[in-house]
Amino acid sequence: MALPEGFIFSQSSLQDYADCARRFQLRYLLGCRWPAPEAADALEFERQLQRGYEFHRLMSRLYSGVPAEALRHAASADPDLAHWWSNYQDTPPQDLPAAVREAEVTLTTALGKYRLEARYDLLAGQPGGHWVIVDWKTGQHRTPRAVLRQRLQTRIYPLVLVEAGATLNGGLSIAPEQVEMLYWFAGFPAQPERFAYGEEQFVADRNFLEGLLREVETRPEDAFPQTEDRRLCNYCVYRSLCWQDVQAGALANLEELEPSAAALEDLDLEAIAPIPF
Ligand code: SF4
Repeated sequence: MALPEGFIFSQSSLQDYADCARRFQLRYLLGCRWPAPEAADALEFERQLQRGYEFHRLMSRLYSGVPAEALRHAASADPDLAHWWSNYQDTPPQDLPAAVREAEVTLTTALGKYRLEARYDLLAGQPGGHWVIVDWKTGQHRTPRAVLRQRLQTRIYPLVLVEAGATLNGGLSIAPEQVEMLYWFAGFPAQPERFAYGEEQFVADRNFLEGLLREVETRPEDAFPQTEDRRLCNYCVYRSLCWQDVQAGALANLEELEPSAAALEDLDLEAIAPIPF
């Protein structure tokens, strides 16, 4: 099935494809917006999503040079946000290179005839030296390492930095061995997860992703099957389109609640007060 003109793959869209090909087709190929909450408690779901977005915004401001004291006031507006802020102040990610700090940066690379982008929460690096990709996690639960290992984000983010990070690295390519991925959990600041990267993994990921992108494009229109794992449907906006008998899942059981691009599209970001500083 033809991709939309100028389509750029991302970890969000590819994770959707990996989870459920039908969801990818509905969301990205057919542009289907479906008015359903992702979880049973829609208001609380949106509140948590907004809080996660606000934490990401605080971190972006902080690493863009806004003094922490100026942000502390904004963080105190919500008890959970204040707790995360306090966690960050007490136990920030350790051993981040200091020469380059880039928050909310997007890099794009070509894989064959396809384009793939990564939107980083924070890139911390030393030109010619170590580079750490930091991803802020604001879910209620701490995602297990084995789950993160399987997430396409863990494969895509380091690969795109290696492919497209030269502009940040004094014009020189960043070698896979220089790259590390770090997940920092706002609710569990002392238990981050770090993934080293290397040439072997880079080559494997490149081959895997090129094959995946080709597979997406060459699938016939009627060959985007629904997932066989119906648990995924409990937290999918399309469940009432696909099934008549699947109820929205409980928010407390949702492993990971992150402000994904798709979710943010549905948020009224204009309604979120700007951070004063
Ligand atoms: S409801 Fe289930 S089958 Fe349908 S798009 Fe969502 S995840 Fe896929």
